Amino acid sequence: MKNIAVLGCTGSIGTQTLDIISKNRDKYNVTGLSCGSDAVGLAELAREFDCDVLGIADERKRVTVKELRPSATVYCGDDALTQTLDGADIAVIAVVGMIGLKAVLYALDRGITVALANKESLVAGGEIVTARAKLGGAIRPVDSEHSAIWQCLRGETAFKRIILTASGGPFFDTPVGKLKSVTPEQAVAHPNWRMGKKISVDSATMVNKGLELIEARWLFDTVNVDYVIHPESVVHSMVEFADGSIKAQAGFPDMRQPIQYALTYPDHAPREYAPLKLPLSLRFIPPDETAFRAPRLAKQVIETGGLAGAVFNAANEAAVRLFLERKIAFTDIVDTVENALCKEDMSGERTLDGVISTHNRVYDKIYLKYQGA
Ligand code: MG
Repeated sequence: MKNIAVLGCTGSIGTQTLDIISKNRDKYNVTGLSCGSDAVGLAELAREFDCDVLGIADERKRVTVKELRPSATVYCGDDALTQTLDGADIAVIAVVGMIGLKAVLYALDRGITVALANKESLVAGGEIVTARAKLGGAIRPVDSEHSAIWQCLRGETAFKRIILTASGGPFFDTPVGKLKSVTPEQAVAHPNWRMGKKISVDSATMVNKGLELIEARWLFDTVNVDYVIHPESVVHSMVEFADGSIKAQAGFPDMRQPIQYALTYPDHAPREYAPLKLPLSLRFIPPDETAFRAPRLAKQVIETGGLAGAVFNAANEAAVRLFLERKIAFTDIVDTVENALCKEDMSGERTLDGVISTHNRVYDKIYLKYQGA
């Protein structure tokens, strides 16, 4: 029996994780559940999985959770990200945004295995996270691309290059001139993957692929990371070796595969799945980096190192929020990120405090500029 804590339990990855657990109740026990603000959803999951260690980031919702689940201990604010992990063997960290960093470090310091779906924590603080991961616990990627690379690298001792696949998002064949008028509703409708709002916008701007390039840089300790457009999302990523051999991992696009693998590693445990219908016609297309500049900016971030990742991520988090609040245009998101990378100071200390203060400074400067506008 493995004890599992799920952070971000009411979101897309969180609910899919719990769906896997519900089909394997003899193998997993839920010891902690945490979410941002969905008190009713949290209480329902607490009942379903008989879990009495709960976290809700939004302090105002604490009373509601307690009323709906009187037997539970309810943590709020930052404690929701940490105290709910105690006693877990595996922490599934599926919160959105840089706030996940605290949870990741808390788990690693206690030898709790991290099943990581929160890419922003690695983008902002990858250097710190990987240094701690070498000392204590381990990280298992949940992101489909990184799970694919992880699966391709099993049994290998060295590799030359990582090639991430990118669906291209919903606008990959939209004329550049039409991108400016894209609405939040259009941006969150992804053709292949069912996801939360933030990652759907990131996917539409291709910032998601940028975040994933940086994530891969830290997870696999290499700067040789590349990407290719693959609209079908069947090949989840590839690894190239010194002799020219390329290994790819493929499957029907369903996040429950990488989530389950992060729980059952090193085994590919049985599960119900939609098989690929063969024959398949797959396309691999070179990216258009003039229309979608975010991955190129991410490669610059990888070269620069230091706090560049924190700046990239913070500018994007603020810009996505402004876009969803209809305060800036779709194309302003990547402009904002590029502008921040040009102008922001990245010379601060490469510590947790340095990352958090850089994040807050960049985020606030961008977000607050549009308040009352
Ligand atoms: Mg991904």
